[in-house]
Amino acid sequence: MKRWGIGAFALVILAISAGCSASAESDDQTASDSPDSKGRMYEYRVHDAVARADELASSGVDLLERRQGNDLFVLGDDATGEQLRALGFDISLHKEVVLPRWTPPQLRISNEETTLADVAETYYGGYHTVNAHYAHLDKVATDHPDLAKVVTYGQSWKKTKGNGGYDLKAICITKQGSGDCALSPNSTKPRFLLYTQIHAREITTGEMSWRWIDYLVDNYASDSTVKQLLDTEELWVVPIANPDGVDVVVQGGNNPRLQRKNADNANETSTTCSVPNHGVDLNRNFASHWGGASTTTNVCGETYRGPRADSEPETQSSESLWRKLFPAVRGPNQGDPSPQTAKGLLMTLHSDANTVMFPWYYSNVASANDSTQRAIARQLGSITGYEYGRSGEVLYAASGSTDDWAYEKLGVSVFTIEVGDPNTFGSCSGFLPPYSCQTSLFWPKMRPALIYAAQKAAAPFKP
Ligand SMILES: [Zn+2]
Repeated sequence: MKRWGIGAFALVILAISAGCSASAESDDQTASDSPDSKGRMYEYRVHDAVARADELASSGVDLLERRQGNDLFVLGDDATGEQLRALGFDISLHKEVVLPRWTPPQLRISNEETTLADVAETYYGGYHTVNAHYAHLDKVATDHPDLAKVVTYGQSWKKTKGNGGYDLKAICITKQGSGDCALSPNSTKPRFLLYTQIHAREITTGEMSWRWIDYLVDNYASDSTVKQLLDTEELWVVPIANPDGVDVVVQGGNNPRLQRKNADNANETSTTCSVPNHGVDLNRNFASHWGGASTTTNVCGETYRGPRADSEPETQSSESLWRKLFPAVRGPNQGDPSPQTAKGLLMTLHSDANTVMFPWYYSNVASANDSTQRAIARQLGSITGYEYGRSGEVLYAASGSTDDWAYEKLGVSVFTIEVGDPNTFGSCSGFLPPYSCQTSLFWPKMRPALIYAAQKAAAPFKP
């Protein structure tokens, strides 16, 4: 068996660095300044891997949400490279992951700080902490009582254990009338729900929710498109679906930790995972085709599915919230369609594959609503410049996801946008783009996409 040791990879990096200044300057920044990292980190290109995506995920490696042709991408260190080669995968080095220099995060002041101060609590150049997101929701509701209402829909895993943690929060934005924003599925107005940062390290996604909320409440009086939306729909937002995980990311300060999962380490009975590998992958934990494609039973793996379907409080609470927001309109059989009269649309954001996706996700098979879902995805692809298709067509199949659950159990029209830089070597690519990318690249793409998707919430399955 051929082994790729550290020496071999150093040679590869030298060779690649000669033609790629981005990685050349970073060699001594990645590991030595980072308190958590055990060595250099790389993105490996795994050639012709789509057909073996399931095997990749179940091996416990960190399979990234990105695809080019039939190649997939894996994040890891030297040992990961050896592991992939031992499994028989044909790999090459895509790029070295350049983590920013370590700077300790500011300590929080624990005296009589107001929530207003928390709105400004940021890390890594401007990204908002969980505290800031929640203070923001409260501030918006206080400043716009005619437009916004905050709802607590559950607790994070740590909070359920009495060990810190957070409430789970949503905001409902609409021109408030009698009965609006009630936790009942039979609403008068159609509902659009934006649901972000279930994968904690996908830090762009929560910022898109922040901007979407501000955009709606700040432009109601002046923008006819926004006024129309708020007069006729309820716009719901869950900005941080996984606050415990986001807190792990935030604790890295200017060197955000690459935590993907929640913080539940109760399943680490025979092994102890390192930071940032604790937890259950919430987007593999939902009770829809649980335990299938792109999941692992390795508790430290990034796609660890949990000990059983719906094992996590974040998963349970999300399902409970969605049942209160969307009526169940689809039949019980796999091939049953949602009716053309159905209302409501769920949009989840991830990063950074540059794709627009719709069910099914568990396998590359068409749902009975494939053509109307595809038509909306095509338009979202046109707006964003991203590829569109089912997960199995443009990325890889994945089971136990938010989107399959919402479509299978309720018949909600659901989409995921993988928000990314179309240039995978671009300055806004990866999980940790500079904060300036939010303004320069991501929000200009997402604002029109979210408006269009929200407008479709009235009748998403109507051809
Ligand atoms: Zn994700």
